[in-house]
Amino acid sequence: MRCDCCGSADWTPLFSENGIRLGQCPRCDLLYIDDIPEPQRRMTEMEAGHYAGTQEIVAADKQSQSELILRSRFQGFVDLAREHTPSGRWLDIGCGAGLLLGLARDASYEIEGIELSADRMRIAAQQTGATVHGLPVEDVGYPDDSFDVISMINVFSHLISPTETFRELARILRPGGIVVMATGEMTAGAQKGDMLHWNLGDHLHFLGDRTMAEYAERLDLAVLHHERTWLPDEMFSREWLRVRGRSKAKNALKSTVNRTPGGLALMRAVMLRRQADSSAHSGVFVLAPR
Ligand SMILES: [Zn+2]
Repeated sequence: MRCDCCGSADWTPLFSENGIRLGQCPRCDLLYIDDIPEPQRRMTEMEAGHYAGTQEIVAADKQSQSELILRSRFQGFVDLAREHTPSGRWLDIGCGAGLLLGLARDASYEIEGIELSADRMRIAAQQTGATVHGLPVEDVGYPDDSFDVISMINVFSHLISPTETFRELARILRPGGIVVMATGEMTAGAQKGDMLHWNLGDHLHFLGDRTMAEYAERLDLAVLHHERTWLPDEMFSREWLRVRGRSKAKNALKSTVNRTPGGLALMRAVMLRRQADSSAHSGVFVLAPR
């Protein structure tokens, strides 16, 4: 098992979750699980709506509600893209129920999507009128120079080989084209308690402190924009309270906090203190082939 980013065979174990081990490359800081699935197994899991054996991928109707709540965050990605590449063809990889695609269309981009989960793929196509493929981007067979903007929001962690995917994106981007990417990014000293759920098995990779700089160097990408938001700060928000998860108990607690005056401030004070040492960040990037 070699590091997808730098090729090193060194792998320092960090911890296990659901019997799956996460470790880190000491050279480039990429975090990855010790059992990266074969592409065929991954497709079967995505199509079946399950991963790592028994865990369910959130159903399409719940996904659609969550996406509505995420509208302002996603509009931020469209605004960010427009600063660099204001028009043209936009491909959203992992488009879910199509919220970002709709916002890109409203900003006058021509849109197309990729979504491996069959029910989300149908909803995205219905709601946006876009062509949505149910294949990994490497398998669609796009010609060179096909897109001006390619977005991957919370997709990096699911990729079997980010290196192969980045190479394909560089090939299908037009000159002047960009990749807009958002994903988890861990600063030094990542520990299990840094995230409430790592969802190992569904998540295969996480960026570490130096990882994106190393990918950029190796793959000849320019990092045009990089911002890190501390995840606990972003996470324990009014939006988070409104998003329904898998746990009924947690959903009930969120509803109570949401209805209680001052409830969110109290919850934030408790959770931010508890998570004070967390290395977890949300990284947003704009990348371009050099
Ligand atoms: Zn590495």
